[in-house]
Amino acid sequence: MEEWPWFRSGHPSAPRNQLRLDPLTGRWVVVSVERAERPSAFTPRSAPVQSDTTRPCPFCPGNEESSPPALETYGASGSWLVRVVPNLYPAFEGDQPFVVEHRGPIFTQATAGGIHEVLVLSPDHNGDWSRLSDEQAGLVMAAIRDRVEEHSTVPGLRYSQAIVNAGREAGASIEHPHGQLLGMSFVPRELAEEQAGFARFAGRCLLCTTVDAEENAGHRVVYANERVVVLCPFWSGMPYELLIVPREHGAHLHRSPTSRLVAVGKAVRTSLQALTEHLGDIAYNVVFHSAPYRATGMYHWHVHILPNLATRAGFELGTGVLINVVAPERATEDLREALEKIAIRTQRT
Ligand SMILES: [Zn+2]
Ligand SMILES: [Zn+2]
Ligand SMILES: [Zn+2]
Repeated sequence: MEEWPWFRSGHPSAPRNQLRLDPLTGRWVVVSVERAERPSAFTPRSAPVQSDTTRPCPFCPGNEESSPPALETYGASGSWLVRVVPNLYPAFEGDQPFVVEHRGPIFTQATAGGIHEVLVLSPDHNGDWSRLSDEQAGLVMAAIRDRVEEHSTVPGLRYSQAIVNAGREAGASIEHPHGQLLGMSFVPRELAEEQAGFARFAGRCLLCTTVDAEENAGHRVVYANERVVVLCPFWSGMPYELLIVPREHGAHLHRSPTSRLVAVGKAVRTSLQALTEHLGDIAYNVVFHSAPYRATGMYHWHVHILPNLATRAGFELGTGVLINVVAPERATEDLREALEKIAIRTQRT
């Protein structure tokens, strides 16, 4: 069993860094395991999301005309709570099949067919996922499920990627809280690597095993209930990175029962609340990973929350090896404390 806290061993020559294997991607990460003083506070985000805030927000209620007609809306008639619209600047577009063309020894190309949609998380311009109500968090998850379900019926598409970018540093260009749904004609590398990770794993399911092992170890579980577990993974490559795993095994988000989706939607909210409480108003990415529609191999859908705190420097870019200066054990302690503070405050009011 791994040992935590390391500093209890009191060994002066105890290593300050450790290599840890991310079994999902097969990549090694460098994790700082020294009992350093708390690293200098990360600076909250500063860059404005939009340079021009004088134009009306295209995603606010009343401005629906400024985006293409909705593909789907959720909420009582008359006032929507969640809205899905086509992206005006799609990365993937059209129904051309994925046909690879070799136009020379190194010029390989294919048409970027597919779907690119925007998911407006809430009518509230200033409410990000950390501020969604239970109902709203459930609706957002239902919208993701429904759209992915729809994408999966489109001939030629294989995989849907759902993401939320919050903050300029994390790639958001419109302030209003929103996510994106991309239906793709190929399985992207990150997903293919994870599929390979599941296939390589000698036990039953890599993430079912992770949940069991982390609950046994205890010191990387930030939050858990009967349906979902939130942890700072052992192999965290980024400070305060979180992994949200539904307890019930299932490969496909879009085939999950509503109760599980609602639980995950609420866990995303709780995680973001903890991050905000501890780190302030940070930029972050939420990444949903689900098996390609027709994949039959072992897979367990899950959510990554990736706070945008560290810049990838030359070493990371040149090697693909991440250096994480905040051990996930430390991050877990901080985020648990943050949740306790929130709980105390909520009791008082
Ligand atoms: Zn708005
Ligand atoms: Zn599983
Ligand atoms: Zn993943």
